[in-house]
Amino acid sequence: MVELLPEGEKVVLIAGNWKMFKTVSETAEFCRAFEPPAGVEVVLAPPFTSLAAALGHELDVLAQNVHWDDEGPFTGEVSARMLRELGVAGAIVGHSERRRLFGETDHTVGRRAAHALASGLRVIACVGELEAERERGETDEVLRRQLSVLEPHDGLVVAYEPVWAIGTGKTATPQMAQDAHAFIKSLLDVPVLYGGSVKPDNATELLSQQDVDGALVGGASLAVDQFSAICETAAQLPS
Ligand code: PEP
Repeated sequence: MVELLPEGEKVVLIAGNWKMFKTVSETAEFCRAFEPPAGVEVVLAPPFTSLAAALGHELDVLAQNVHWDDEGPFTGEVSARMLRELGVAGAIVGHSERRRLFGETDHTVGRRAAHALASGLRVIACVGELEAERERGETDEVLRRQLSVLEPHDGLVVAYEPVWAIGTGKTATPQMAQDAHAFIKSLLDVPVLYGGSVKPDNATELLSQQDVDGALVGGASLAVDQFSAICETAAQLPS
């Protein structure tokens, strides 16, 4: 279940992060209308309340966070065991919105990732620098620190998401993405997705970069036509 990168093939993974959008009925409506194209792997991460509604379609469903214990007095948290029983395939951890707004640290991200992977979930671990960090030339240092809590694993994917590009309409240039992905892979040999204002009109140039193995898509994953267009682009890339 956790094997992500068949030997010798470039697997393109497109992950939709719905954040705190879509009720159960809106999720069901999206899933009825959305058909993942052949030749690309598509996963969706709806809010916890909509996970069950997204199950049973032709894609893996991921949670947007997961705790490092199986159960306990942790109000507002959900465990890997609970997600597994529901049929959820994995979880995003360390999204910059969790780090910035909810006090997530490298330490907690590492704990969440390690326990989820050990529990048989796939993990998309998000890393990325702030705009001020990039301007000060600290991007590599930040990525090195954020990656230091992660161990290589077949079920692990890293998402490089420059924080200044998330939900802002600003996108890293393809070369910036390529450079960051190559650096990440020099430290941790796992597939790396790009995230940060990926849209149908910039998906081709970003996904064509050698070390870009897919995309983590926020805003554009909420509309069936836009998400479908990004997935189609990915499906048509030469392997
Ligand atoms: C995200 O939330 O992970 C993301 C990349 O958002 P957006 O595509 O809207 O920038």
